[in-house]
Amino acid sequence: MKVAVIGAGQLGRMLALAGYPLGIGCEFYDRAADTPGGQVGPIVTGEFDDHERLAGLARRADVVTFDWENVPVESLAPLARLAPVYPQPAALAVAQDRLLEKTLFRDLGIPTPPFAPVDLRLDLEAAVRRIGLPGILKTRRFGYDGKGQARIRSRADLDAAWAALGGVPLIYEGFVRFECEVSLIAVRGRRGEVACYPLTENRHEHGILAVSRAPYRHAALQRGAERYVRAVLERFRYVGVLAVEFFVAGGRLVANEMAPRVHNSGHWTIEGAETSQFENHLRAVLGLPLGPTAARGHAAMVNFVGRLPARVRTLAVPGLHLHDYGKREARPGRKLGHATVVAATAARREALLRRVLALR
Ligand code: AMP
Repeated sequence: MKVAVIGAGQLGRMLALAGYPLGIGCEFYDRAADTPGGQVGPIVTGEFDDHERLAGLARRADVVTFDWENVPVESLAPLARLAPVYPQPAALAVAQDRLLEKTLFRDLGIPTPPFAPVDLRLDLEAAVRRIGLPGILKTRRFGYDGKGQARIRSRADLDAAWAALGGVPLIYEGFVRFECEVSLIAVRGRRGEVACYPLTENRHEHGILAVSRAPYRHAALQRGAERYVRAVLERFRYVGVLAVEFFVAGGRLVANEMAPRVHNSGHWTIEGAETSQFENHLRAVLGLPLGPTAARGHAAMVNFVGRLPARVRTLAVPGLHLHDYGKREARPGRKLGHATVVAATAARREALLRRVLALR
């Protein structure tokens, strides 16, 4: 069986690695060959609007999927005539636009921070009057890892925020004073079956995911998150893995964003769950039975951002699982790899996690 993966980053690489033991091959598409995915599987290079080249890839595949959220929907949607495209381009279109995404959450009864669209400087004034301060101004599209965002603490910050971001469609959101951030990773198969992983607790540094711990055990929040995520899955008759990130504020879930793909906060599932998110994504898009999603203990995942610690040090931590994405160039803010530890108890997990954090 062959899966065409548009985008060949670390997520694609881990999809391909999950496919090998099952006899599932991934063929990638990206701008450059020497990408994390291209190092572990065949790759076609081209621009993301090269319809002919993309069509050639789709014709050879049983199914088309993607590992990158900014794949142009206009490039993806026509491929559905040649092979099934999962997750559905309609879900990708919503996830690419923070305003459509929050509007969908609201329509489905999923709590969100208060938000308002901002196109003009006047809209920003009106949004701040209505929603209040502090808040965050974000670009509607192409934002990730805290990029394209400006915190607005007081009216004095308005000019700088507008100067930094104005000119493209924006969204203003009320600032949520959250206790913690969690995400739910779920997978829906072609026959509509759904499996959810235990909640993951996520710590960000400079807007980038730094540490995930799972399972985050809270029965009521788990139930609530599953209900919300199922509502999104059903709306699109979604196929594949979907991640939704929430704030926990006042003991309640507030949805921040969704990702229609495997997600960084689910990397712990490779060693910490019965079936990884990557394997379950492949199973789902190919119409195969889904695997169990239970945790195998207490896991923690640490991202290596900007710098990868020396292998001789990481591998000295007992039980550490290293994932080096094979990126040739280290840049500040760039995710180069991650490490996961899994332990029988949360206390033991914390002790191992401290050792992993000391490596950074
Ligand atoms: P995002 O790109 O929307 O995921 O934002 C990156 C990070 O910024 C989030 O994980 C939060 O830590 C923080 N953040 C984003 N939006 C809000 C908000 N409305 N209130 C509080 N913190 C936020």
